[in-house]
Amino acid sequence: MSTPTIEMVASDFLYDSTEEALNELFAAPPAMEPHADARFDKGNDTIIIDGVQFYAKRVDYHRELDEKFVQWVMDSRQEYPVYGDPSSADGESLEVWAQSITDKYLGSPYLSGIDTDGYESFMPNGVKGQFFRYEDEMYVALWQQCYGYRARTRPMVFHVSCHESSYLLDDDKATAYCTECEDVVFDIESGGQHVKRIDRTGEEIDGAEEVSFDDLVANPVCPNCQSDLRVEAAQF
Ligand SMILES: [Zn+2]
Repeated sequence: MSTPTIEMVASDFLYDSTEEALNELFAAPPAMEPHADARFDKGNDTIIIDGVQFYAKRVDYHRELDEKFVQWVMDSRQEYPVYGDPSSADGESLEVWAQSITDKYLGSPYLSGIDTDGYESFMPNGVKGQFFRYEDEMYVALWQQCYGYRARTRPMVFHVSCHESSYLLDDDKATAYCTECEDVVFDIESGGQHVKRIDRTGEEIDGAEEVSFDDLVANPVCPNCQSDLRVEAAQF
């Protein structure tokens, strides 16, 4: 009698919804006020974006293609024993797989990927992503590199549902505003390297007093009425 083995099947590793996949990716989300997708992180003098809400507006979990990836990892275990377990698949296995199904890997030269450690980003650290094109549609695989208390995840395949793939790279942008004063709005770009006063229509206010990002996050209050400022992630 042989020892019974438990057969893994691809569906054991899949998710039922975008929300479920994103919650796995951001297992320890930053605490937010209800309905807020970003907040000031005064302890670290920065702004932090809720990754689940940010990506939910931009991508849809693509179970069918994700299953192809998981199945490929399982089928490849003979050649790459270390990759045989889908839950231990990493960015490298994603790259090999994506290149095997498309000749337009990376999409365009400037849309190569997401690496929230590699550039100024308001996203929690450790999020990695890779764009690829498949049958004329743009996809992105997202995964969590091990980072502190955040558990690593395998790359998960999402369809890019927003109009421009570049909207997924807007994790270095935010808007801070006063809820009392109509025209106190700060447009924040490049992870805080650029801050400008704009009005509600998005026009820059000429002659507005310059504000540094450091001052803004250290004391996020309205210069007119001293109310607390609110902050939100980039919209499109
Ligand atoms: Zn105000």
